[in-house]
Amino acid sequence: MRENYNDIATALNIEKIRNDFPLLKTTVYGKQLVYLDNAATTQKPTAVLDALDNYYKTYNSNVHRGVHALSQQATEAYEEARKKVARFINAKYSHEVIFTRGTTESINLVASSFGKKFLHKGDSILISAMEHHSNIVPWQMICEEKDASLKVIAMDNKGILQMDDFEQKLTDDVKLVAVTYVSNTLGTVNPVRDIIKQAHAKNIPVLLDVAQAIQHMPLDVQELDVDFIAFSGHKIYGPTGIGVLYGKEEWLNKLPPYQGGGDMIKTVTFEKTVYNDLPYKFEAGTPDMSGAIGLGAAVDYVESIGRKNIELAEGELLAYALDALAAIPDLRFIGESPERSGAISFLIGDLHPFDTGEILDKQGIAVRTGHHCTQPVVDFFRIPGTVRASFAFYNTKAEIDALVKGLEKARLMLG
Ligand code: PLP
Repeated sequence: MRENYNDIATALNIEKIRNDFPLLKTTVYGKQLVYLDNAATTQKPTAVLDALDNYYKTYNSNVHRGVHALSQQATEAYEEARKKVARFINAKYSHEVIFTRGTTESINLVASSFGKKFLHKGDSILISAMEHHSNIVPWQMICEEKDASLKVIAMDNKGILQMDDFEQKLTDDVKLVAVTYVSNTLGTVNPVRDIIKQAHAKNIPVLLDVAQAIQHMPLDVQELDVDFIAFSGHKIYGPTGIGVLYGKEEWLNKLPPYQGGGDMIKTVTFEKTVYNDLPYKFEAGTPDMSGAIGLGAAVDYVESIGRKNIELAEGELLAYALDALAAIPDLRFIGESPERSGAISFLIGDLHPFDTGEILDKQGIAVRTGHHCTQPVVDFFRIPGTVRASFAFYNTKAEIDALVKGLEKARLMLG
């Protein structure tokens, strides 16, 4: 395993790649930063920073509205970014890509629009036990409004979804299934192909929260045959404030607009408004032009490294980290699915995750502690939270060794 990682890391030239990320050179408390909080947000390559800088310095202008040269240039760049994202996820049409503020807004959009039109008293939405709050609360809100209910697919104590429970709960009252592809807390990769196939056999659409999948593995919406996906730019090396909702054309055409305002209309009179076509129907108001252009640059950057290469390098890194962490006395993993990606959660003996995180921080090691916006997950395991190390392709074996050393220190200091 470790030799393989070295092969991939050398082939990818990780050390050179790290130079693309200025922030990775930062020191914290005089120590070299070891950034292992990539599930929360990723660092940005110079290519993305330059795209933002170039936009604001040379062609900042509002899109879709002006005949002047700058507005046309901004519009072209904004729409080119949409095409890049569409190609990246292999959408059939670029108008199936809606720019939003992030995963949270994308899910709220579907919950609100789908719910308004298709959810009725007695219906239900089926989610899973390992969802991020952003794939729970919007559904709770619309269910409350519509007198519908939320059903939850159970998981076992390894953090693996119980597919027999899914099958049992996939009854006629279910109007939509909304599950995460990869759990941000447990690292579990869910059997989404199976979930989609079974849901479609009953004509039930599926939304996938791919906030923790899109940056780690190739993802093809046509091959998955998924109806909606939601993700955030900032988790895939792009800027904050921009995200994507992909929806199949037929679904997006059926949904009512989410917000009203400029750009989402064809004509407005006081008596009646005719809504715009896709994708603009769902993009009311001035969009985040720079964010979309930055996301386009991020997608180009990821493509230049290669998603298969990223998956391989990160897979080996994860295997190395799991081995190394398992050797720490009293460490127990929270989430032990063999199918995993991105994040590793753990606890050491009775040490509070927050204390462990603080000691690591003093050594320049950034991990996340707490419930990671998945409170039902930590409640399920009856724990106060976890320590979570999460990885990107720019992380190294040496950084994992530093984490292990830091944890040994925490154990000695607190134990
Ligand atoms: N879904 C998952 C699985 C996540 O990990 C996150 C963020 O951590 C979100 C949704 C929400 O993303 P954002 O806060 O960028 O909207």
